[in-house]
Amino acid sequence: MAMMRRKLVAGNWKMNGLQKDRQFLSDLATLHSETPNADVLLCPPATLLTSMAATRPGWLMLGGQDCAMTQSGAHTGDISAEMLADLGCSHVIVGHSERRADHGETDAVVRAKAQAAIQAGLIPIICVGETLEQRESGLAEAVVVSQLSAGVPECEAGQVVIAYEPVWAIGTGRTASPEDAQAMHAALRAAWSGADSAALRILYGGSMNPGNADALLSQSDVDGGLIGGASLKPDQFASIIRTLR
Ligand code: PEP
Repeated sequence: MAMMRRKLVAGNWKMNGLQKDRQFLSDLATLHSETPNADVLLCPPATLLTSMAATRPGWLMLGGQDCAMTQSGAHTGDISAEMLADLGCSHVIVGHSERRADHGETDAVVRAKAQAAIQAGLIPIICVGETLEQRESGLAEAVVVSQLSAGVPECEAGQVVIAYEPVWAIGTGRTASPEDAQAMHAALRAAWSGADSAALRILYGGSMNPGNADALLSQSDVDGGLIGGASLKPDQFASIIRTLR
């Protein structure tokens, strides 16, 4: 049933990017005529969203990297899902392993953020993934499936995107093998509680680059990629997207 799902390539710039890096959008300007079959999303830091929203090509979607659990109010420094939607964002990453580690975000927090995103009309990209220790102890699938059931609010498959990001593969240059990624994606799809699991988009993230993207993205349950480091370089990001031609 993979045919129902359009591939999605999403760039996560993390805490990188200054005003001068808006140039990135011009570097990608003609890309979409080559790859009309893939959706492309960029999640720059919040400080670049306003200017990028004004200059982005229509085919390039924008997303936040995090949102608050609550809609508004006394939460200094936080950005609400509604604020992101108001800027023209369509997606927001929630539960990235860096936020789980740096800010102690639990599955309950991730679920509340995903719920806030859906309420604001955004699609949350909900990240799950095991540590190296958990993988080596044979717990990878149990951990990831439990993050899915605890971190995803009740919703339809089309209202969210899941990103399988093994923690040991993020920013390390190590990736899951295409076979291991496929197996985990199939397990996540099987664990989806609704009858609409064939519509659920599940991205792989963790050191995806132009050299390994094709093998990963051609797996039947891998519906795209969440790209960190390689999304900062327009030629590398474009080259990953071009594998979907
Ligand atoms: C990420 O941060 O979501 C990620 C996958 O990073 P990288 O591609 O650098 O491993």
